[in-house]
Amino acid sequence: MGFSLTWLPEVLKAAGLKVALVPGWETRGAGDVSHIVGVICHHTAGPLQGNMPSLKLLTNGRGGKHPLPGPLSQLGLGRDGTFYVIAAGRANHAGKGRWQSFAAGNSSFIGIEAENTGLDNDPWPEEQMDAYRRGVAAILIHIQRGAAFCAGHKEYALPKGRKSDPSFDMERFRASVAAVINGTAAPAPFIPAVDPQGGRPTLRRGAEGPLVSAVQAAVGVPQDGSFGPKTEAAVRGFQRSQGLLADGIVGPKTWAMIP
Ligand SMILES: [Zn+2]
Repeated sequence: MGFSLTWLPEVLKAAGLKVALVPGWETRGAGDVSHIVGVICHHTAGPLQGNMPSLKLLTNGRGGKHPLPGPLSQLGLGRDGTFYVIAAGRANHAGKGRWQSFAAGNSSFIGIEAENTGLDNDPWPEEQMDAYRRGVAAILIHIQRGAAFCAGHKEYALPKGRKSDPSFDMERFRASVAAVINGTAAPAPFIPAVDPQGGRPTLRRGAEGPLVSAVQAAVGVPQDGSFGPKTEAAVRGFQRSQGLLADGIVGPKTWAMIP
C-alpha cells in the first residue's frame, strides 16, 4: 500500500528543517490523498507544556462524544520548529469548507498542526514560526503553487466562524511564505559542517559515536553515543543556559561551550 506523500520528509530536510518521523507514517492515512493543491495551517489548541504534546492525538485520532479517526494531520510542528511526519496518506484535518475553489480539503490539502494553545498565554516562538513559513514554502515549491494556496483553517472552514485556527494573521503569514518562495527572505541560519576551531563535526539528532558521548557528558544525559530526542532536549536546555539559539544542533557555537 503506497501513499502519495512519502516525499514530505526529504522536501522539509532539503529546506534545512528539523524532521522527526512518527513510526508507521508511510502507511498511515484514511486512504490516500488526491491531487494536492495546497496547505492548510492549524494550531492544536493542545496543552501549554511540552514540545509536541498533541502528537498521539494527531496520530491516532480521538474518541468520546464526537469521535474522529486519525490521522488528524500529515504534519505536526513542535514549539522548537521540528516537523513530525505523521502520515503519508489522507488525514481528517479540514472538514467542510472552501479555498481557491477547492472544497475537498482533506483530499486536496496537506494539514499542518502546530503546537499552540491558541490563547494569549502561549506566544508563538520565533523558531516555530520560522520553521512554519519555511516548511509551507518548501511544500508549495514542491507542488508548484504560490503562497495563495496556503490557507488558515479559519479561512477555509465553512460555515464562516466554524474554526478560529491558527491564531496568527494569515495575510502576513502568506507574505512571509511568499518571501521565502521568492528568495527575498533572510536565509536560514547557516551552520558549518565542521567546527573551524576544533574540527569537530556538527552533530544533530541521528548522529552516533564517541563525540555524541562527549556531548551527552556535557549536557548531563546517559552516554550511550546515540543522539536521540532526549539528548536533543538536553542540548536545547544547555544552549538556553548558555544564551545560544536553542535549536538542538551541536554546531561551532555550541562546541565552543563544551570542553
Ligand atoms: Zn484546524
